[in-house]
Amino acid sequence: MVVGEVAEGIDLLVVGGGPGGYAAALRAAQLGRQVVLVESDGLAGLGGTCVRVGCIPSKALIELAEVRHRALQFEAAGLCIPSIEVDLARFQAWKGGIVEALSHGVGTLLRHERVRVVAGTATFNKPNRVAVALPDGNVMFFEFRSAIVATGSQPLQLPMLPRDGVRVLDSTDVLALAEVPQSVVVVGAGYIGVELGTALAKLGSRVTIVEALRSVLPWMEPAIGRVLLRSLKRLGIEVFLGAEVVGLGEAGLVVRVGDAERTVDGAVIVVAIGRRPSTHEIGLETTGARLAPDGTVEVDASRLAAPGIAAIGDLTPGPALAHKATAEAGVAAESLSGLHSKFDPLAVPAVVFSDPEVASVGLTEAAARALGMDVAVAQFPLTASGRAATLGAKEGFARLIVDRGEDAVVGAHLVGPLVSELAAEAALAVEMSASPEDVAGTIHPHPTISESLHEAALIFAGRPLHVTAGVGD
Ligand code: FAD
Repeated sequence: MVVGEVAEGIDLLVVGGGPGGYAAALRAAQLGRQVVLVESDGLAGLGGTCVRVGCIPSKALIELAEVRHRALQFEAAGLCIPSIEVDLARFQAWKGGIVEALSHGVGTLLRHERVRVVAGTATFNKPNRVAVALPDGNVMFFEFRSAIVATGSQPLQLPMLPRDGVRVLDSTDVLALAEVPQSVVVVGAGYIGVELGTALAKLGSRVTIVEALRSVLPWMEPAIGRVLLRSLKRLGIEVFLGAEVVGLGEAGLVVRVGDAERTVDGAVIVVAIGRRPSTHEIGLETTGARLAPDGTVEVDASRLAAPGIAAIGDLTPGPALAHKATAEAGVAAESLSGLHSKFDPLAVPAVVFSDPEVASVGLTEAAARALGMDVAVAQFPLTASGRAATLGAKEGFARLIVDRGEDAVVGAHLVGPLVSELAAEAALAVEMSASPEDVAGTIHPHPTISESLHEAALIFAGRPLHVTAGVGD
């Protein structure tokens, strides 16, 4: 049923309550806009994929797995624990509490800024008009002055391996498991596949990872993928690279590696091959916005997709990461409110909560060379770090990429324990075009993994401390 034909006039509409949408609503409200935020799942949906089925629940699972794994590892260092049991049903309750508290916190912030939250699914049907299907079956209409669209993304599926939620799972299913599966095949060695595969292995599953490309974390510095591959194998995870999924047979997942087909058995198959933007079925084209063939929305530097309409987050080109969505949210809210604001970061840092962790910031060596820079590279191995030794690290490094022409750090790539926390320092260095001497001249606390960035910079400065290596061209 349609509630009236007359649309309610509103100032600024936000569609989606994830890290893009809620951050945009808050910033727009701070700028004096009257904001209506429409979220399919209402108040319970605030926080979006990130809070409910992404960043936060996955890191909670990884933490549980890590505690079990380290407890077992530290037997050799004198820790005596007779037995460790994992109760995933209890984990789900614990994780649910965290998710609920964070989602509730977003609701409180929105209420404080007088953002009106409407539960319903929005579809654009004119350049400045949206229909919202309410949970009770009714439909209401809004006519807006400006809109920010942040409907996020959904897991990609393989046509020959459709998700059934029982045998074939996506990341959301994995994060809701009530029992640790005996064996798992993960399809995809991107960050979500590596994170979930590692966590399940540490919880006791026998894990196999199958990847069509020739490396783990294929979009990162190749040396990072090599470290991670060795580490996955040390955890007992079998990895097939260059392996294409053929289909699901009686005995397991059939994959083709080169000319040969083989069957990989697993109680469950987890498909983690990426995500597609949720731009279908929201009628965005009726606003004049244009979609690229991959489903992302074409936007300018202000994130405008059409007059008065911005798109942000997983909908736009670039890495599908929460902090990118939030950064774009500020730009969109400001530019639609008359401020000069652009999204042009030198680096969108990426971190992977693998074992060891990965932080990748700015240009890779290959990308810097492709831009014609006079590239120099310095790498500090974590085997020379005292803190890494106490954390039981087997290998890892901090690699700085420098543009000699500008005397500036243009990239930093780290693999090792706790390096996710160093991504921000590296991003600051890249954004401020810090010289290697700026980093070398900054005192880093001992004993921390952050010293590895300092040590890499000292190599550039010609005064390496705990290594004898020099700068590579
Ligand atoms: P979303 O968070 O997807 O929010 C979109 C919202 O829009 C949803 O709440 C949805 O219900 C709502 N919606 C959709 N359509 C409509 C409609 N028509 N009307 C009304 N509402 C609608 N990123 C990181 O940075 N770090 C991590 O460690 C990390 N880990 C991840 C782990 C997993 C397993 C997954 C799946 C993702 C992870 N991500 C991580 C990615 C991160 O979750 C996303 O990049 C981020 O949530 C995108 O934010 P968004 O606001 O664009 O969209």
